[in-house]
Amino acid sequence: MSQALEAPKNSSYDVVLVGGAMYGSSVSWWLADNPDFDGSILVVERDPTYEFCSTSHTNSCIRQQFSNEINVRVSQFGAEFVKNFREYMGNDPRVPQPLIHSYGYMYLADNEEFAGILKENQKIQAACGAGTKHMSKDEIAAAYPFYNLDGIVGANHNLVDEGYFDGATLFDWWKRSGREKGVEFIANEVVGMTRNATGTQVESVTLKSGEIVACGTVVNTSGPRAVLTARMAGIEIPVEPRKRYTFVFSAEKPLDRDLPLTIDPSGVHMRSDGQYYLGGCPPDDDPAVDYDDFVEDHSIWEDKAWPAIANRIPQFEAIKLINSWPGHYAFNTLDQNAILGRHTKVENFIFVNGFSGHGFQQSPAMGRGISELIIYGEYRSLDLTPFNYGRIERNEAFVEKAVI
Ligand SMILES: Cc1cc2nc3c(=O)[nH]c(=O)nc-3n(C[C@H](O)[C@H](O)[C@H](O)COP(=O)(O)OP(=O)(O)OC[C@H]3O[C@@H](n4cnc5c(N)ncnc54)[C@H](O)[C@@H]3O)c2cc1C
Repeated sequence: MSQALEAPKNSSYDVVLVGGAMYGSSVSWWLADNPDFDGSILVVERDPTYEFCSTSHTNSCIRQQFSNEINVRVSQFGAEFVKNFREYMGNDPRVPQPLIHSYGYMYLADNEEFAGILKENQKIQAACGAGTKHMSKDEIAAAYPFYNLDGIVGANHNLVDEGYFDGATLFDWWKRSGREKGVEFIANEVVGMTRNATGTQVESVTLKSGEIVACGTVVNTSGPRAVLTARMAGIEIPVEPRKRYTFVFSAEKPLDRDLPLTIDPSGVHMRSDGQYYLGGCPPDDDPAVDYDDFVEDHSIWEDKAWPAIANRIPQFEAIKLINSWPGHYAFNTLDQNAILGRHTKVENFIFVNGFSGHGFQQSPAMGRGISELIIYGEYRSLDLTPFNYGRIERNEAFVEKAVI
C-alpha cells in the first residue's frame, strides 16, 4: 500500500469496519440508510485503489442454483435489489440502473448420481420460486446446439434472474451514497485491537498510523485477510486465500446465441461476456496462497481451461486469449458458506466473512442482515442464523453443495 495514511476525524465510533470493499461498503451503506440508526461509522481500508481485493477480481455472476434454501433466498434478494436499485437508492436521478443479463447457469451432469443431486437441488430452488428446470440431454441439444454433449446425462438451467449482473455499480454507489450519508472512509490499516479485561468486548482498534480508535462494534469485512483481522481479537476462523483464475477470450466463430454460465464437469466454467467470452477455474492443486501472491500460471489456460472449453464447445477450437487474472477467494475451508454474525464470546465482534465464490451476489442481503443485527439485535428480513459463528466452534459444517 503506497497511499498516504488518513487519520480518522474522531477518536471513537459506534461501528468500525475493517475493510472497505464490497462488504465494507454494503454494510456501512445499509446502516447509514436506516433511519433507526443514528450512530457513527468508520470504514478503514488498507488499499483504496482496491487493486488486489476479491471485489476487483470477481466474475460478478448471480444464480439461484444453490442447495440450501437460505442461499437461494439470499440471491433472490440480490436480484430484487439490483432490479430495483434506483428505488433502493432513494430514486436519486444520478444513480444508473444496473442490468442483470439473465442467460442463466447451465450445470452439466456427467453421471446419474450428480444428475440426481441436481434434481434434488431443483426441487429446493423451485420451492423458493426459482425458475430452475432440469433438462435432459435432448432438451439441452435442442436449446443450445453448440454443445458437445458426449458423456453428459442432463443439466439444470434457469433463465430468470440468473447470469451476470453489474455489481460494480452497486459497489460504486454504496460508497458514494454512504459517504453522503455520513460514513467516514479512510485509507489506513487496522493493525491491532484491545479487549476488555474479561475478553468479551473489543474496546478499540489500532491503526497503522498509530491512532487508537474506540469502537462500539467492530465488523470484519477483510475478505481473504479475514483471519488476520479475527486474530487481532484473539479469534480463529477457517478462511484462507485460494487462487481462482479468470480468462477472457474472443472466438473466431462466435456463437449465434448467449452462452449460459456453463459449469463443465471438468471444473471449468464459461459464459458470454459482451462480445467476448469469459472462463475460469481453480487450479488442480488448490492450496492456501500468500496474501500478496497474484502470480499467473499460464499452464492453467493451456492445459486445463482451453482444452475443456474447446471440448465442450467445438466451435471454440479457434479462440484467442484477450485478458486473464488470478484473484483470491476468501475460502471457508469448513463448508464454503458465509460466516456471519456475532462471535459467541467477543460479543461486539461481527463476522462478514468466508464467502468463497458467491459473495458478490450475496452482498445486498448479507449487508442488510448485518445492519439489522447491529441496529435491532436480530435479523429481521431474512433469517441468516444458519451462517452463525457457533457452527465453526462446534465444527458443524453447513454444507453448500453447489459451489463453484
Ligand atoms: C476470481 C473470482 C471470481 C468471483 N466470482 C464471483 C461471482 O461470479 N459471483 C459472486 O457472487 N461472487 C464471486 N466472487 C466472490 C466475490 O467477489 C467476493 O465474495 C466479494 O467480492 C468479497 O468482498 P469482500 O468485501 O468481503 O472482500 P474483498 O473484496 O477482498 O475486500 C476486503 C477488503 O479489506 C481490506 N482489508 C483487509 N484487511 C484490512 C485491514 N487490516 N485494515 C484495513 N483494510 C483491510 C482489503 O484491502 C480489501 O479491500 C468471486 C471472487 C473471485 C476472486
